[in-house]
Amino acid sequence: MVATVGNHPLDNIEDVKDFYDAINRRHLTKALTPERPYTYWTIELYDKKNGIRGGGGLGVLAADTRRVAEQSSVPFVLITPFYPEEPHQHYEKSGDSFKNYTTHEKVDYTKYGYDFLNTVNIKANDTIVNLDVIEKNLGSTKIICITEPGFGELYSGESGSDHRLYQEVSLGFGGYLALKLAGLKPAIMQLNEVATFFAALARLDELTTNGMDFYEAVVYTRKHTLYTNHTLVQAAEAEFTYDQFNRFVFPNLKSPAVRKWLSDKFENGRIRLSTVTIEIAELRSGVSKLHARVANYRDLAGNKVKFRAITNGIDIPTWTAPGIVNYLSTKGIIDKFALPAEDYKEKVQAISANDIRTLKQKGRTELNTVLEHRPNQYGNYIKIPEDALLFQFKRRFVDYKRPWLAFTRPETLKRILEKHNAYFIFCGRVHEGDERMSRQLERLLKLVDADPFLRERVHYLPDYDEELGRALSIGANISINNPIVGLEACGTSWMKDIINLGLLVSTHDGGVADCPADSYLSISGETESEELDSLYARMEEAASAWENDFDLEFFIKKELENYLPIISGTRMLKDYLDYLF
Ligand SMILES: *Cc1c(COP(=O)(O)O)cnc(C)c1O
Repeated sequence: MVATVGNHPLDNIEDVKDFYDAINRRHLTKALTPERPYTYWTIELYDKKNGIRGGGGLGVLAADTRRVAEQSSVPFVLITPFYPEEPHQHYEKSGDSFKNYTTHEKVDYTKYGYDFLNTVNIKANDTIVNLDVIEKNLGSTKIICITEPGFGELYSGESGSDHRLYQEVSLGFGGYLALKLAGLKPAIMQLNEVATFFAALARLDELTTNGMDFYEAVVYTRKHTLYTNHTLVQAAEAEFTYDQFNRFVFPNLKSPAVRKWLSDKFENGRIRLSTVTIEIAELRSGVSKLHARVANYRDLAGNKVKFRAITNGIDIPTWTAPGIVNYLSTKGIIDKFALPAEDYKEKVQAISANDIRTLKQKGRTELNTVLEHRPNQYGNYIKIPEDALLFQFKRRFVDYKRPWLAFTRPETLKRILEKHNAYFIFCGRVHEGDERMSRQLERLLKLVDADPFLRERVHYLPDYDEELGRALSIGANISINNPIVGLEACGTSWMKDIINLGLLVSTHDGGVADCPADSYLSISGETESEELDSLYARMEEAASAWENDFDLEFFIKKELENYLPIISGTRMLKDYLDYLF
C-alpha cells in the first residue's frame, strides 16, 4: 500500500515504529522524549510560513531539518531569533541603468501563530536586556524564538561587530534560558554553525554552577554537542576581541571556572568562535563528502579537525510538485517517509519520458501562476510559453557561485536559446552593501537590455526567496549550478531541481560531488575558458535531451538513481541520529 508522504504528521504509533525500524534505532524513543528533545540551534531559519526569512542555504537547511523531524515524529526543538525586520530587494530601470534598492519591512510575530511564553534577561554592554520568548508547536516539534524590537535584521552589521555578537549572545544565553522556561532539557544540542556557540557555553556554565566538577561538565557538554560546519576556511571567519567579550559574554557567565577557561582561549586579544566550538563539541559534521574532507580546521593543539560527512538533504514534500511526489510514491520509488525504497533503482526504470513531460507541463503552469505576481527587472510580469524550454539559475548572488558565467559569451547563449526555443531565468539577491556584486548584476542586466532577443528571453527576478526557488525548480527544465570547484560546501538548490525531474548542468562540487561526475551533465575544465566551453556544450546537450525521449529518460533516471538517497531529508536526519546515538 502506498501512503501519502509528508502531508500530515505521523500520528499513528505503527507509523512511528516503522520509521524507527526503518532507521534501525529501536531505542530512540527512550533517548528522545518531548521533555528531553533533540535541540537545534541556528542564527538563521528560512521558513516564511512561520514568519522568518533567512538569507540562504543555512536557513533552508534548518527549516527542512525541522520539517523532516515533524513528519517522522521525532521530538525536536529549533531555537532561533525572530527578526522584527526583513529586507526586500527591488529593481527599476531608470534611463540607462538599473536602480537597485532595498526596503525594510516590519515583521510581527503575533501574525504567525506564536504564543508568548515570558521574558528572559541577558546582560549586554552594561545593560540588562529583556528578550521575549515565543513558541510555536508543530507536531512533535517546536520553534522557540527569542526576540526584542532592537534585534534588527538577520546579518545586520558587519560580521565581528558588536551587533552580531549581541544577536549571537542573545540566541545562546537567552535561548538556553528560554528552553528552561519551556520546561525542556536538551538531549542533544546541534549547533548549526559557530554563531550558536553561546548555547553550548550557557549549558557548560549552568552545569558547572549547579555543582558539577568543571572537567566533568566539559566532558558532558562535549559528548552532547554536535557542531555542524558549513564553511571551508577557518581563517575567513570573523574574530571578536577580548573587550567585546568583556561587554557581551563574560557578564552572562556565573562560573569563574568557565570564565577562566574561555579567557584562556584568546590569542593576542582575539578569538574565533570556531576554535572554542571545536573545544566544546566532540561531535562534528560537514555538509557533504567533499566538504567534510577538505574543510581546513585546526583545534587549539594545531591538529586538523575531522568532520563526519553528513550530506544535506531537503524536505521532499516541501520542495517538490505534489504531482511528482505522488508519482514517485505510486511508482514505489519513495516510501511514506520520503526515503528511497530499498529497490528504488529498479523502480526508477519505470519512469517514462511521457510521464516526465506531463508532470513538467503542470509544473510550468504552476510557475506561471507565481510569475503573475513576481515582476522581472523591468517591473513587468512575464509568462513562459508552455511549449518553450526553460533554463534557470537561482542562488545567492555571490562571487564563488559565478552567476555571470553563462553570460560570458552572449552570442553563444543567444544561439542556444534561439535554436531550442528556450528562455533563461536567473535570480539571486545581492548581499546589501556588496558593491562589487551589485555592479556585476547591473552589468548583466545591461547586457541583456542591449539585445532585443535576450531582452525577450532572459529575465532576472528580484528578491529571490523560497517561493521563487520552489517555483523555478518545479517549472524549469534545466538548471545551472556553476560554483568554482572547491568552494561550495553542499548546496541544496540543485536537489530541488533533480527531484522535480529537471536536468542538472553543474560543476563537480559540494554535494553534487557525492556521486560520480557522469551522474548528471557535468561541467569540467582546468581553466575558466575550458569550463565555459563545457558549460555551453552541456547546455546544448541538456536542451537536445528534452527533444528526445530516449535521452531524457536516460538522464533523469541516472540523476535519480544516484542522488535520490542524498536528496532525502529523512535520510539526512537518519544519518544525524545514527551519528548521535
Ligand atoms: C534552496 C534555497 C537556497 C539554498 O541554495 P544553495 O545555493 O543551493 O545553497 C537558498 N535560498 C533559497 C531561497 C532557497 O530556496
